[in-house]
This record gives sequence, structure tokens and C-alpha cells, in this order.
Amino acid sequence: MILSSKGIILKVFPYSDTSLICNVFTDDYGKLTFIAKGVRKAKNPLLSILQPFNLLEFQYYYKKNRSMQLIKEADIVISFDKLRNQLSTIVMGSAILNIINKIFENEYPNTTVFRLIYKTLNKLSSSNSDNKIFFLFYMFHLCQQLGFLPNIRHCHLCNSEFTDKAIFSEQFKSLICINCHKGNTFSSDIHLDNKSLQFLELINKTNIDQISKIEISSIVLQEIYNFLIFFMKHNIHSMHYIKGLKEIEKIYYE
Ligand SMILES: [Zn+2]
Repeated sequence: MILSSKGIILKVFPYSDTSLICNVFTDDYGKLTFIAKGVRKAKNPLLSILQPFNLLEFQYYYKKNRSMQLIKEADIVISFDKLRNQLSTIVMGSAILNIINKIFENEYPNTTVFRLIYKTLNKLSSSNSDNKIFFLFYMFHLCQQLGFLPNIRHCHLCNSEFTDKAIFSEQFKSLICINCHKGNTFSSDIHLDNKSLQFLELINKTNIDQISKIEISSIVLQEIYNFLIFFMKHNIHSMHYIKGLKEIEKIYYE
């Protein structure tokens, strides 16, 4: 059966003497592993477009229960190649693709996540200054889509509304209020002040096109970055193996 779908290339590696294997997050079918046979022979035009940061329209021969699907044709729809112009956008863009590649099993479609990757890469490749916000936007909405976003308004233990601070508790893997945190402290707990909570609420409600217009202090960006990474590592074991997170952390603290 021949199928077609738009897909964002996550990772590419050589196979045999002449072929390529690509992990691709497709719009309609989730992550798929494709093989492009013979493309590393001289002057095959597919070789230059089967690259990370490209969104392609694929046609492929689909067989259920086959670990790799064979590419028939692929055409470029959008290249996010401009994000290679800055080190910060390269490391953030690469982490975005790596995270999807590591945490998604094959054939679990999620069109919201597809749009989230696409929109974030698009922003990273077209903006000069708001990269830190876009990456946090991506992480927050990815957590939400995966279904384990903590309650950012109410304490996990007593259900009271956060009015001042909230603490991400390692013990409860949730946000709790100052009162409940007394006697339940761990050294790795992350404190989020009121401005950070308000920013999380904004990320939650605001479109990615609007979010960059908001002025955010670097302290808030650091707090939210630490919180989201810590939180994802607690929920997804494979987050410990994502390359480039150390480099991204440096960007938030420079
Ligand atoms: Zn409480």
C-alpha cells in the first residue's frame, strides 16, 4: 500500500553502502522509520533533502509490522535550515528533535505534537532573540500533550490556590504550597516564585506567535527551564539521555 504524509526528519544515519535510514515524525502516523535505498549513490537529489530540520512530503510503501518503511518519493515542503545560523538555535532545535525521537514509539500519531514541533522550529529559524521563550513553550506544551503536566494553580496536597510561591516537590513529583512543603523538604526541590507561576499560566494560554511579545526576566526563564527539565526527567527516563541539555542550560545562564 502506498501512503503519503508530511513528516519532520528527526535523525538520519547511513545504512549499508548506499542507503539511508531516517527517523521521521509524520503528521498522520506518528514516528516512522524510513529506509531510502540507494540514495547515497552519486547525485541522488534525495540525499540533500533527507536532513534534520526539513519538513517533507513523503510517499512510501507501507507494510504493517515492518520495522522500516520504504520511501518511494520525498519533496521538501519547508526547510528550517536558518536555525543553523546560531549556536543557540542549533542546540535547541536538535534537542527538540532528539526528545521526540527518544520518547515516541513508532506509529503513535499526535497531530498537536506535530504542529508544536513545526511551529517551534519555524520560530527558531525566523527569530533572533526570543529563542529561550520558544524552547520553554515547546517543553511546556509537550508535557501537556503527554498528559503529565502538574497542576500550576493549586497545591497537589491541600488544593489551595497558589498565591505567592509554589515548590516542585521531588517527593510528590508535583507542585505544592509553602505550608505543605514544611516538613517535606528535599534538597532538589525547585522553588517557583509568583512571577514564574504567572509566566507558566501565560505559556498555557498564549499562542506561540504572541508569546514572544512578553517581557520576561532571565531569572524567571531560568526557574521555568529548571522546573520543566527536572520535571520531564522525573517522568520520562529517556530524558536522561538527551544530548545537548547541558549546552541549553548554559544559554539560560549566560
Ligand atoms: Zn498545600
